[in-house]
Amino acid sequence: MQGVIGENRGPRHDDGGWAPRPGAEPDLEMSAPDTGSREEEAVVAALRSTRLSQGPFLAEFERRLTTFLKVGHAAGVASGTAGLHLALRAAGVKRGDRVLTTPFSFVATANAILYLGARPIFVDVELGTGNIDPDRLEEAVEIERKRSPGRVKAVVPVHVFGQPAAMDRIVEIAREDGISIIEDACEALGSEYRGRKAGSLGHAAVFGFYPNKQITTGEGGAVVTDNPEWAAKVQSWRNQGRGDAGQAVSHDELGYNYRLDELSSALGCVQLERIEELLSKRERVAAWYGERLSNLEGVVTPRPGPETTRMSWFVYSLRVEEPLSRNAVQSELSRRGIPSRVYFQPIHLQPYYRRRFGGRMGRFPVAEALGASSLALPFSSVMTEKQVDRVAEAVHAAIKRRPEL
Ligand SMILES: *Cc1c(COP(=O)(O)O)cnc(C)c1O
Repeated sequence: MQGVIGENRGPRHDDGGWAPRPGAEPDLEMSAPDTGSREEEAVVAALRSTRLSQGPFLAEFERRLTTFLKVGHAAGVASGTAGLHLALRAAGVKRGDRVLTTPFSFVATANAILYLGARPIFVDVELGTGNIDPDRLEEAVEIERKRSPGRVKAVVPVHVFGQPAAMDRIVEIAREDGISIIEDACEALGSEYRGRKAGSLGHAAVFGFYPNKQITTGEGGAVVTDNPEWAAKVQSWRNQGRGDAGQAVSHDELGYNYRLDELSSALGCVQLERIEELLSKRERVAAWYGERLSNLEGVVTPRPGPETTRMSWFVYSLRVEEPLSRNAVQSELSRRGIPSRVYFQPIHLQPYYRRRFGGRMGRFPVAEALGASSLALPFSSVMTEKQVDRVAEAVHAAIKRRPEL
């Protein structure tokens, strides 16, 4: 243990592919947290307080989240995934229900639906944003209305890569059938849709604070909502179903240990204080990439849509268009020691989902096309312009080689 801490080997993201490929220079990571002495002081203060869980730092972190997002309630939880689980349960999702969502997301979005014994009903996405396509959503609601009336309890739009989904239409479509909207805002802290914050646009929203997100608590997440009853349920369920008093020994309902500890909350407090700085640094890195890559033939760079009044950049993901090959570009980057990642492989094609639901190619053509063509470049608020230069030069070289020919 001493050795691991002493060596300071830098961030490691063991989530199946996020870690740099062998050969990558240690200074160029896929992502890196942006923490400094203020975070260190806060974590040490939490440690010295000797109250390491269920204390004032969590309450303060939650208070800051509600202020920043302009929502009524926030509940810190152990991860974004745990937050999705509890938010969906608060929306009344239970065994046999159906939940509409997108296949172009991190697997956690659909997994949380399965935890409740419900079934994810995937809806294809828009090519430009990777977000759930409201036209396809409307069709899916109509189909479900006939096939399984009353079984669709929720829709989970994901604000992919920080870009808010088409929420006005989604709200309108869901309202007609009394469907709850749970925003998966795990990639979108600080983004704004027509002047309103992502996470304040549905019935509840979930954020994640893994080290690659806009702010981090190490592991961690939050559920936010304006609904006081949902907030109380989430607060109870994260704490083994305890009643109001929190410390009580009476377990009113089946709960979990999904608590966010004090060290993590202290870290989150400082990160949230710094959010404007962190978001503008990320925006600057995205702009550097845009300057170097947006006129490159065969490559489509990400850009905020017309309804995105503020983009909170999560990853910088290119689309490599045919006849160029994404895989060939990725290999060339890797050969030059530059990590990159396929973000995302659509959920319906993940081995578990194929086995369980018979997912196959052809079901969601847009999500599949994005899965086959997108490539996320190293991205974080601590990246320097020089590092962006190096990555961009490698992308240019990879494309000039036209390695598919
Ligand atoms: C990060 C993320 C989550 C939550 O991840 P955790 O690792 O559980 O915090 C959920 N959905 C999406 C789309 C994400 O990017």
